[in-house]
Amino acid sequence: MEDKMIRTARMKLDSAQRILVMSGAGLSTEAGIPDFRSKNGLYSQNFFGYNPETILSHDFYLNQTELFYDYLRTRLNYTGILPDESYRLLAHLEATGKVHAIITQNIDSLHLEAGSERVIELHGTLKRYYCDKCETPYDPIQMMTPGQSPHCECGGLIRPDVVLFDESVPRIGDAWMTADQCDLLLVLGTSLRVYPAASLPTLFLEKKLPVVIINRDPTPYALSPGVTEINGEIGKTLRELFPDFFSE
Ligand SMILES: [Zn+2]
Repeated sequence: MEDKMIRTARMKLDSAQRILVMSGAGLSTEAGIPDFRSKNGLYSQNFFGYNPETILSHDFYLNQTELFYDYLRTRLNYTGILPDESYRLLAHLEATGKVHAIITQNIDSLHLEAGSERVIELHGTLKRYYCDKCETPYDPIQMMTPGQSPHCECGGLIRPDVVLFDESVPRIGDAWMTADQCDLLLVLGTSLRVYPAASLPTLFLEKKLPVVIINRDPTPYALSPGVTEINGEIGKTLRELFPDFFSE
């Protein structure tokens, strides 16, 4: 059964000209980034009595800046985590023209670090910091150092370039426009349950364009016509789908 799915997925990927990749937490997790949304993931663990969605809000950042930073430094510190083979494959596929762009929900910038260039980071990234008043950029490694002041010289507050829970997703227009230029959607490591990303497959299916999904658990699209879904490890599945890259 699985073999047939792999064959179908490989055939669709082979005939696609401009692939759009949509990546989520599952891809980051395989590279060693702590999991957010799973049952025992970060988002189910409170911090000093606060739940993560409260802490990662603009309101909390403004009013409890020290605790906000303590949370980033202890729970969302990605220093030293590097992109794995899957990320390198995607960068390679972009260089050869096969992958047109990547839309990601992840905030670790691993795609950019792997060498991918057209990356839409829907929720921003924890690898960039700036002053919310004068917009001076700040070094992320410096900001991850305990005791580092969150105040800019101008009196503003330094913030990570991420979309907080009570903020809107500014790059969604970009994402939709990019999606419109692609002929296959490859979804990696997201259960497609959180909007706006969850509505991306529909955009392709309505145009009768193929959707290939690799995710550990079944997604709501698993049985939709036009969708080839493989439930398993992303790295292992990509090895089977792109054997040439991995044999080099
Ligand atoms: Zn400033």
